[in-house]
Amino acid sequence: MNGRLQGKVAIVTGGARGIGAATCLKMAREGASVVVADVIDDEGEAVAAALAKEGGKALYVHLDVSSEPQWNDAMRGALRAFGALHVLVNNAGIARTEDVEQETLEGFRKIIDVNQIGAWLGMRAAVPQLRKSGGGAIVNVSSIYGFIGGRGEAIAYQSSKGALRQMTKNAAVRYAAEKIRVVSIHPGFIETPMIAPLLKGDANVPGSLAEFIVSHTPLGRVGRAEEVANVIAFVASDEASYMTGTEILVDGGYTAA
Ligand code: NAD
Repeated sequence: MNGRLQGKVAIVTGGARGIGAATCLKMAREGASVVVADVIDDEGEAVAAALAKEGGKALYVHLDVSSEPQWNDAMRGALRAFGALHVLVNNAGIARTEDVEQETLEGFRKIIDVNQIGAWLGMRAAVPQLRKSGGGAIVNVSSIYGFIGGRGEAIAYQSSKGALRQMTKNAAVRYAAEKIRVVSIHPGFIETPMIAPLLKGDANVPGSLAEFIVSHTPLGRVGRAEEVANVIAFVASDEASYMTGTEILVDGGYTAA
C-alpha cells in the first residue's frame, strides 16, 4: 500500500470488472474504503471480497446508474458503511457501434441514460456528501471518443462521451470554490470485456480492427485496465489538488498521431 488515498471513501460505478474493477483494487491498495457499485452482482461481490481479502475495506452495492432511486439507496448504503464520501468515479458505461443511420431511438436513449444521465445522477448524489467532507474529487471516465470521431461509427456512444467531457468542465467550475474537483479521463483502446470482441481479430492480419488499432497507436499495443486505474487514483488523490475541469488522455498516443 502507498497510502495516497488513506482515509478516503470512494464509490466506483461499474466496479465489477474491467477498468472499474482495476480502479477499485488500486484505490483499496492506496488506502481508500471502496464502494463497488454495479449491476452484475456476483462479479461485484467477488471484487469486494477480493479487496477485503487483501486487507482493504470494501462494500458491494447494486446500482443501475440510470436509476434515481437506486442512487439514493447506494449513497445511503455507502454512508452507513463508511460514514462519509470523498471520491466518486463515474466509470459505468455501455457501448454501441451503430452509425448515424443505423442507430435506433431506443438504442441511442439507452446509451445516454447510462453513460451521460447516469454520471449526472452520480454527481448530483455525491456533491452534498463531498461538501460535507470539506471537498473531494469526481472522476468521469469518458473516452478518446470525447475528442475524435474515430471511424464514424458509434454515434450514441461518442455523443455520450463528448457530453461527459463537457459536464466535467461545467461541474468543475460550479464547485471549485467548495474544493470539489472534477476531472475527465479519456482512455484509448483498453483490454477489457467491453472491447474484447473487437480485439478478437489478429493484430498481424492486415485490415483487421485489431491491426488497425495497434498500428495507429504509437506505443504499439492496447492498454491494460490498471494503466487507466493508476491515473484515476492519482487524479482522485490530494496529489492532484491543482487539477480541475481538465481532461486526461490515456491512449498510448493514439490521438497524438
Ligand atoms: P466493461 O464493460 O468491462 O465494464 C463496464 C462495467 O459497467 C461493467 O461491470 C458493467 O456491468 C457496468 N455497467 C454497465 N451498465 C451499468 C449500469 N447501468 N449501472 C451500473 N453499472 C453498469 O467496460 P470497461 O472497458 O471497463 O469500461 C469502463 C469505462 O471506460 C466505460 O465508461 C467505457 O465507456 C470507458 N472506456 C473504455 C474503453 C476501452 O477500450 N475498454 C475505452 C474508452 C473508454
